[in-house]
Amino acid sequence: QGAGEALRRWVRRVPDHPVPGVTFLDITPLLGHGPAFRQAVDALAAAVAGLEFDRILAIEARGFLLGAPLAVQLGKGFVPARKPGKLPLTVVRQAYELEYGQAAIEVHRDAIAPGDRVLIVDDVLATGGTSAAAAALVERLGGRVAGFAYLIEIAALDGRRRLGDRPVRVVLRA
Ligand code: 5GP
Repeated sequence: QGAGEALRRWVRRVPDHPVPGVTFLDITPLLGHGPAFRQAVDALAAAVAGLEFDRILAIEARGFLLGAPLAVQLGKGFVPARKPGKLPLTVVRQAYELEYGQAAIEVHRDAIAPGDRVLIVDDVLATGGTSAAAAALVERLGGRVAGFAYLIEIAALDGRRRLGDRPVRVVLRA
């Protein structure tokens, strides 16, 4: 957690966003500071050490900001899980409940092959609904979920309970 603690100052707490009562963790200060951004990607790479996977699947939009550089750093493929209607070819779609509302994500049907080991990456683990949906997509395509990795876990929301007994790796707890 040492690297994580050093990154805490680059995450802003925004009260009542996007709806009253929710405190939003804003990572744009971290993204805007070169050394902090690099340290965040390095810390994620260290956090997932020991997990075996072929590809990183990350969730639009903030998951892309960390998942893609992590994939480059580790030499892994990258699978974008997108909001409905964005991907051009045949997709599988999964609907889910958010901390604040309802949503769905899609991946290309050919993005994951049977037996592929997939690491799911997002910026924040809140209720776990988004990541559980991503895991369901991976498994519907015959892939295996090697684990989950986040920059920040909002521990009070206990999103881990939605993720089964797979490895969950976190840089920073809020
Ligand atoms: P969950 O499905 O775990 O409740 O919510 C996680 C998803 O919502 C992630 O894709 C994440 O980007 C977004 N999210 C939820 N709460 C926050 C937050 O406080 N800060 C940021 N940056 N993203 C959040």
